[in-house]
Amino acid sequence: MSNITFSMIKPDAVGAGNSGAILKMIEEAGFKIIAMKKLRLSRERAGQFYEVHKERPFYGELCEYMSSGPIIAFVVEKSNAVEDFRTLIGATNPQEAAEGTIRKLFATDISANAIHGSDSDENANIEANFFFSQLERV
Ligand code: UDP
Ligand code: MG
Repeated sequence: MSNITFSMIKPDAVGAGNSGAILKMIEEAGFKIIAMKKLRLSRERAGQFYEVHKERPFYGELCEYMSSGPIIAFVVEKSNAVEDFRTLIGATNPQEAAEGTIRKLFATDISANAIHGSDSDENANIEANFFFSQLERV
């Protein structure tokens, strides 16, 4: 059972002023924030983060979108973090996301879907290390 996962509040949710409400939901669900930063990804850096999707038809649009404005990148800790966080954020397509999930409440569409959550322990570590060094993780 994992105890950390990586997340980003995406440009649509940051731009709409929803980051505070989203972080409140995450903390109330029992996740402890252990690292956090606000930044804007370059197109190239967004492409590196989503490299696993580079053959998918939405890759170009996704990289444009993820570099279109600031994001908030963070790492959270909780037992069963990866699975529980994916449940809290809801399905990729907000129209399919369960009631009460972050994507149902705050996402605009399948691309601008408010928030990222790692899909495995392995990827949580890779993605956390993409943004944070070990020393910065307090
Ligand atoms: N995405 C998209 N169109 C799609 C599928 C995904 O624009 O048809 C975007 C969306 O922002 C999603 C991200 O690509 O969050 C990564 O896709 P993935 O399938 O990994 O979804 P997630 O793990 O974020 O739910
Ligand atoms: Mg994914």
